[in-house]
This record gives sequence, structure tokens and C-alpha cells, in this order.
Amino acid sequence: MEKDETRPERHRRLVEEDRRHVWHPFTQMREWLAEDPVVIDSAEGFYLVDTLGHRYLDGCSSLWCNVHGHRVPEIDRAIVEQLGRVAHTTLLGLASTASIECAEELVRAAPPGLTRVFFSDAGSTAAEIALKMAYQHFQLRGDLERKEFLTLRGGYHGDTIGSVSLGGIDLFHRIFRPLLFPVRQAPQPYCYRCPLGRTWPSCAMACADEVERAFEASPGRIAALVLEPLMQGADGMIAQPPGYLRRMRELCDRHGALLVCDEVATGFGRTGTMFAVEQEGVTPDLLTVAKGLTGGYLPLAATLATEEVFASFLGPFESKRTFFHGHTYTGNPLACAAAVASLRLLREGGVLAGVPRKAELLARELAPLSRHENVGEIRQRGLMVGIELVRDRRTQEEYPYEVRAGHQVIREARRLGAILRPLGNVVVLMPPLAMGDGELVELARITRESIEIATARLR
Ligand code: PLP
Repeated sequence: MEKDETRPERHRRLVEEDRRHVWHPFTQMREWLAEDPVVIDSAEGFYLVDTLGHRYLDGCSSLWCNVHGHRVPEIDRAIVEQLGRVAHTTLLGLASTASIECAEELVRAAPPGLTRVFFSDAGSTAAEIALKMAYQHFQLRGDLERKEFLTLRGGYHGDTIGSVSLGGIDLFHRIFRPLLFPVRQAPQPYCYRCPLGRTWPSCAMACADEVERAFEASPGRIAALVLEPLMQGADGMIAQPPGYLRRMRELCDRHGALLVCDEVATGFGRTGTMFAVEQEGVTPDLLTVAKGLTGGYLPLAATLATEEVFASFLGPFESKRTFFHGHTYTGNPLACAAAVASLRLLREGGVLAGVPRKAELLARELAPLSRHENVGEIRQRGLMVGIELVRDRRTQEEYPYEVRAGHQVIREARRLGAILRPLGNVVVLMPPLAMGDGELVELARITRESIEIATARLR
């Protein structure tokens, strides 16, 4: 605070500076400039505190990354201790204690077989790395025609051009199409609005057959199938039917392609197991992680690979089989120290083991919404929840884009004391895994009331 400045004065000054300089992501800035923003100044446990002293439950884990709450003594201490040694050194030509320990912890947490860790700093870069690895892996093995990628509609893997190429959300991605490399895209397993007009389970997973057809249409040319396992997050928490992921693994095996699973959102306990793939007994060939890796403290990501993929890149120096990729902050020691502390807490502190019970509690508390006339479907896997709002429950009619139904709900939630973030007409709940029962009940209450108030206003 500047000298003699009151809290409201400081708030107003910061808002003015924000309006003058900060370009917010995924935000229509004209709307932003006309609204009064919440300016977060600090946090305590599961609450965010703004510049005016208001407290809000962090209902979206600060964009799906927070795991243990904020200002966790063990993670704070690990970062401070690392800061006492060194903040950053490179992994290009040097090793570092923090990155070694982090890789060790990650491999221990990952499904068996994923033993090689390539660090980067965001989910998008982890996806870029996975696709470049998959491509180069086949080139190096002399399988030169395997240059194509198969993805699902509604997929989201980040915002860099490579990861956008793999994406399938028209609203975000269509404008960039001319800049992207072409991919094959199969229909998404979205049972509530089945793109094939079928009904689960009588459909016998016809959408999976479409993936098979895509493989058959391009024999020997698909390098990898890339998908978010169990739940497509950014498209609105689209949950896959049981057995879908296992079927995808079988298809990849049959067609000689790699399976790349993007667990940037689902990883680190979010769906009730350390990684979502475990629930289907699947090990991908490449696994991308970010977000919750550091407990939501610092930017760190990783692409995990099998020994088989790793081995393709080995050869004499002059063979140029090197993976020519790396970022300045690859394996940043501060972030790695946070990740080690978070992973240990997750494993040893009982946080992971507590997720299924908390998920049940949250489901119970949200259950009354399943009868609400403007709720089409509640989709939940662990502590990832999407509540799809509809104008008409009977016909499944959607609210038009410009109505901003999800936004109306989260504005109410903010007024009632919780920060949520919608995805179009889907209200997303993604609380930190360590959130207490009382806070989860409170979060569900605020969500129910916000939906009630906002949808009544839209009638
Ligand atoms: N992959 C998935 C599944 C995601 O949900 C996200 C972000 O929401 C990303 C990748 C991109 O991660 P980042 O925002 O760290 O680049």
C-alpha cells in the first residue's frame, strides 16, 4: 500500500492500472473495462481475499491447478529452502537437484512404464512436446508415413499453434485454422448431446467405432491419438462412458499408433485417482501434465514417455537423433521444489485417498440441481464437475451464446462468496482436493443458489 492510502483508494488505483495495462486471457476486454473487477490480493487456505477484504471460496482451484489450498506450509517452506540455494539454473547441459527429485517423484506417481520426464512450463508446451516426440519417434524409426494425428472434437490441449492444431473447440480454434497443421478428428463421446444421435449404453459406444474408422481411413499414417482421458475439460466437462479409454488404447495398439493422454486437467488426483488413466487400467505412451503438478503454485509441466519412445532418440552424436527442443525455464528448480512437496503431500498426507469420499459429498450436495428445470446434466468425475445449463430441460434447448448463462451464474456466485468460472453454458466446479467438508457444502450451496437466481432472471 502506498503511504497514507486507504483500502478503497488502493483498490481504485489498482483497478485503474489494470484497465490501463493488463490484457486478460480469454476475456472480451470491452466488457472487462466496463465491469468492476475483483482484485485478488492474498489467500488463506481455500479462500481468496480481494483488495477490499472480501473473501471468496476458490471454487475453480485458481483455474484447475490448486491442490492443497493456498499458503500451504510444506510447499511454502520447500520453495523458500530452494530459494536459499538457487532460483534457476538450466537443464541444457546441466543437471539440477530439484529437477532430479521432481522427475523421481513424478515417475513414482505415474502409471508403470512411463519412466522418462521431459520438463516444460505449461500444459500447452507439454502438448507441443508430445506431438513433436511422437512425430520424430516414427521418423527416427523409419516409419516415415506416420505423420498424422488423430484427435477428438471438443478436445483442448492448449493455446500454442501446435496444441491448437490438436484442439477441437470451434469457438477458440476455428479462426486459426489457416495457421494449423491438418489433423483427423473423430466425434467426441458426448452422451448428453450425442453427435451420432445415439443413446448410451444401447449405442455400444458407436463413437469409438468412429475412431476406429478414422484409423482405417489412414492406414499406417497415424502417429498418435491425442485425447483427454475420462473427461474433456475445456469443452464443458464432457465425461466419457466407461471402457472408452481402454478401447482407445486397443485401437492404438492395433494400428501401431502412440496413445497420448493429456492429463493437464485430470492429473494429480482430480478424478479420484492420481491419474485418470488408472481407472481404465491404461498406460499411454506419452502423458502430459502441468496445472496441479506444483500444487498450483508455480508454472511447471512435463511430458512423460516410455523407454521405447525414449530409445528411438538414442544414437551417436552425429546421427542427429537428438530431440531438439527446450525452454529457458525448463525444469525450473523453484517449481520443481514445489512439485516435490506437493506430490509428497498428495501421497503421504491422505489427500488423494480422501477424494472419492469428498466427491460423493459434493455429488450429494449438488443432487437437488439434477431436478432443476434449467439444468440439463451434471457431469462429475471425482472433484471435476460440469453443470450444463439449458433453457428447456425437456428439449435440451441451449441458452444462446449472447445470453451468457454461465457468466450470469458465476456473477451471482461471486456475490455470494465463491469464485467459479464457466465454460459457455456449463458451470464448472473444481475445488482444491484438500478442501474441507464444510467448505464443499458451502460451495455447493452457493452454486445451487446462484443457478436458482440467475436462471430465474433469464426466464
Ligand atoms: N490441456 C488441457 C487438458 C487443459 O485443460 C489445459 C488448460 O486448461 C491445457 C492443456 C493447457 O494448459 P496451459 O494453460 O498450462 O498451457
